[in-house]
Amino acid sequence: MVLANPSGTTAVPITSNDSWSASDSAALYGLDRWGEPYFSVSPRGHVMVQPRGERGGALDLVELVKELQGRDLTLPLLIRFDDILEDRLERLHTAFERAIAQYGYAGRYQGVFPVKCNQQRHVVEQLVETGRRWHFGLEAGSKAELLIALSLLEDPEALLICNGYKDHRYIETAILARRLGRKPVVVIEQADEVERIIAASRDLGGAPLIGIRAKLSSRSTGRWGSSVGERAKFGLSIPDLLATVEALRQADLLDDLRLLHFHIGSQINDIAVLKDALQEAGQIYGELTRLGAPMGYLDVGGGLGIDYDGSRTASAASTNYSLQNYANDVVATVRECCEPHGIAVPTLVSESGRAIASHFSVLVFDVLGAGALPGGVPEPAAGEPLILRNLRDTQAAIVANGSGGAAGREAGDTPAAAPSVERLQEAWNDALKFKDDALAAFRLGYLSLPERARAEQLTWACCQAIASQLETMPAGTAIPEELKALASALAGTYYANLSVFRSAPDTWAIDQLFPVLPIHRLEEQPTRLGSFADLTCDSDGKLARFIDRGHSKPLLELHPLRDGEPYWIGLFLAGAYQEVMGNLHNLFGSTNAVHIRLADGGSYRVDHVVRGDTNAEVLQAMEHDPAQLLERLRLASEAAIGRGSLAISDARRLMAHLKASLEQTTYLEG
Ligand SMILES: *Cc1c(COP(=O)(O)O)cnc(C)c1O
Repeated sequence: MVLANPSGTTAVPITSNDSWSASDSAALYGLDRWGEPYFSVSPRGHVMVQPRGERGGALDLVELVKELQGRDLTLPLLIRFDDILEDRLERLHTAFERAIAQYGYAGRYQGVFPVKCNQQRHVVEQLVETGRRWHFGLEAGSKAELLIALSLLEDPEALLICNGYKDHRYIETAILARRLGRKPVVVIEQADEVERIIAASRDLGGAPLIGIRAKLSSRSTGRWGSSVGERAKFGLSIPDLLATVEALRQADLLDDLRLLHFHIGSQINDIAVLKDALQEAGQIYGELTRLGAPMGYLDVGGGLGIDYDGSRTASAASTNYSLQNYANDVVATVRECCEPHGIAVPTLVSESGRAIASHFSVLVFDVLGAGALPGGVPEPAAGEPLILRNLRDTQAAIVANGSGGAAGREAGDTPAAAPSVERLQEAWNDALKFKDDALAAFRLGYLSLPERARAEQLTWACCQAIASQLETMPAGTAIPEELKALASALAGTYYANLSVFRSAPDTWAIDQLFPVLPIHRLEEQPTRLGSFADLTCDSDGKLARFIDRGHSKPLLELHPLRDGEPYWIGLFLAGAYQEVMGNLHNLFGSTNAVHIRLADGGSYRVDHVVRGDTNAEVLQAMEHDPAQLLERLRLASEAAIGRGSLAISDARRLMAHLKASLEQTTYLEG
């Protein structure tokens, strides 16, 4: 049996196939495309992690999770591979170093990490430490992030880019940081900020390094396309930019203008957009030097994208360029803008967050159960009402349609057995009509409850028959949306011990796709299609869009659950933005998290353990007092004991459960 996937591009064999191997799974889930070089599948069917990329060393993710569980680190568990973070940073620098050598660029690259991308202390600390050899810096977008950056970044050469809304205190802090021996660059993003910088510099008798954010006319086509470009919230238009230069000149601060910044949005899918922006920014940079600013830095912002689905296309979950292509374009374009005009090339800065932080963390969650819909055709009962017989006939006609049987063939048809999409649509319309009739008849008392149950079962049987007919359609057959959706409705729901809002909010907020797949049983062919529902009692709390080479699909190939055996799912490439934006929806708190380092001899070290929020902690975050809560329930128990409705032993048991629940993480524990 072959199931046409909803995008209609490829067909996925879904019957069990004895020749299935782990490498088939790697291809099916795209691991061999987006996972390179950090994730792969072992012949045993386990996901393997190569935290140092091609430099060797691998960990079996399944064994790792087992051992972490032995340390009482229950699922869902966020596993951060610090080696991957380091490797990403190294790759970024290597790419720029290569490009600089290739194009004979007479300047250097000196990046910064945008703290908003992952504000976890261990993450920022590690990037600062590893980045020291390149004087890698930080970008702050708020006062709180400025505090993080100031406390962690001690390298006097590293840039501390100050973006975001800036009040007097923010600017003064930056000026004082310069006196502390740091390299803060306050980026003017709004026309009125220059006056505040001038005032603060006058008050303190010294200025910060100054940057200007230009509002470019080039816009990204991606998700952030509308928030940048000429109508963007941040950045100076060309007239404002010129006025700012004049204001700085008047205030005798033009000598501190060192940096031009632009940011055309995160996850740039199409490199052509970046090239346009670079050319425009390169020209503006040249103008600023001609106006007398010393300059020296060109900051190309964020936007360096991740190929989440491995399709290497300009689609939303992908990029049509590699890290090396990106570095080459930045270096080559800036050189072309400067050299012909005799302008010294700037030090290149990028604020790449997603590209550095996405790969290093893996979220592993367990499936608590799976619910499939009732299948099969119920036995006919004697004297069945007409409505039920109608449904039976419809189901039989659909089956006959596929086999080219008489019921599905009309005069004048070619005798070929190809099922007709039109007839399927017609049959589906009939089935829906009969189902509605059945519900109406039940409401009016003409149908018994068992009869109504049979009507529903028969409707599902029609649905299943149609879905299996669709599977046999030749590739490229136009299938109406409504029928495609049937396959989704039929699929099993896998209940995940997870809160999507907490752990992968972008899947819900901006339809971001992350690779999701079982981390074991990959040597076994997945024979089910399903999607995930999480623990929150919210209809949006689900994972129901999956990567599919430049497209997305509503269902993922999964395995049937086995009694008494766990089924573990990994969500990959979610190290950027997700942890920070996750909220306390339904009061699900942060998950347990660990930092893993590869050690010599193929083993590993657990560097940090970050325990997930307990129920007591999330309640406190909402200003509930756990002690008071317990006390109120204790009083209620006393009253119930007094009334004789609760035994003393039951009251004790209830209080014990309540206390233990407060101490537990917010997820289900085994
Ligand atoms: C968000 C942001 C970034 C980071 O963008 P990525 O696409 O994650 O690299 C960089 N600079 C600014 C100004 C931002 O707002």
